[in-house]
Amino acid sequence: MFEDYRFDTEAKTESISVRGLSHHQKGSYTVTDGPIFQTGCDLFSINYSDLGTELLKILKADGDTEIDQMIDVLEGYHPLLADDDFIEKMILHYHLDGRLGNDFAALTFLQQYATMLADGEITFSSDTFCSLFNSFTGWTLNQNWQVIEESGFEKVRNEPVPSAKELRAAILRILNREEPELPDTFPAVSRVVEFCTLTLYTILSKGYVLKRCDLCGKLFVPAGRKLAIYCERTCPKDSKRTCREYGNEKRWYERQQDDRVMKLYRTVYAAREARARRNPEVEKYRQSFEKFKVEAKKWREDYRAFRVSEEEIIHWLDIQRLTR
Ligand SMILES: [Zn+2]
Repeated sequence: MFEDYRFDTEAKTESISVRGLSHHQKGSYTVTDGPIFQTGCDLFSINYSDLGTELLKILKADGDTEIDQMIDVLEGYHPLLADDDFIEKMILHYHLDGRLGNDFAALTFLQQYATMLADGEITFSSDTFCSLFNSFTGWTLNQNWQVIEESGFEKVRNEPVPSAKELRAAILRILNREEPELPDTFPAVSRVVEFCTLTLYTILSKGYVLKRCDLCGKLFVPAGRKLAIYCERTCPKDSKRTCREYGNEKRWYERQQDDRVMKLYRTVYAAREARARRNPEVEKYRQSFEKFKVEAKKWREDYRAFRVSEEEIIHWLDIQRLTR
């Protein structure tokens, strides 16, 4: 399913190509040089509890249209979820034991884990993540990031709960295994849950931060400054701009309303101008004011473009206020 995907950790972009997504092999999904980890973050931003409720409603209703209806619902949440395998396994699980499939449970786990990380509730390492994932799903990931499944569908009903001893052994196996070297181009994985696992593992092991956008509420990995608070997605409030562009502009206008920097700027400017005007005979005041005017313009521009901080410009203005 995933034909090619690449996280370019230097350029901070991702490229993903996925074919044959939905029923009848029609669907495809392509990202070329998008913001890094955005597809995974989109998948982590889904409310799987709402999605699960919608899917169960369709499954409980009688009729032959359930697959088509499920594809519509899943595609609405994310195109990658409209994968044949994913959907068919969910239906199978449902008819066997009345719950959604293992892949769905694993995605829910990944989503909850990513949310807790983004909201700063937990700060786990990649190792802890692996052992948690394993103990939660009962799966093992092989060196190519593929899920090794524990049982076929016929066994699902009687799936044994692992004993504490088995669980402990599984966790130790993962903790003791050698940390695989992470390349920027990854071996093919075939399932959404494998893709999400690999994304989250890479974010953790490469030391990236996972954050929640202040505007759209979705998770993202900042490409530049770790302090970024807005993502690079199209802004829900303005389809022509990204959350970052919209957010920074909004903050700028809000800040201008009651901006102690600009108040101080105007006060200092007025004082220096008045001194030069009231003392036309003092050449020093006039020259000093002309010099201040040029510098002040530059400082104001740099401040507006976020090239200097509030503290820096206030410090400079305080000095200017005392300068004769
Ligand atoms: Zn956003």
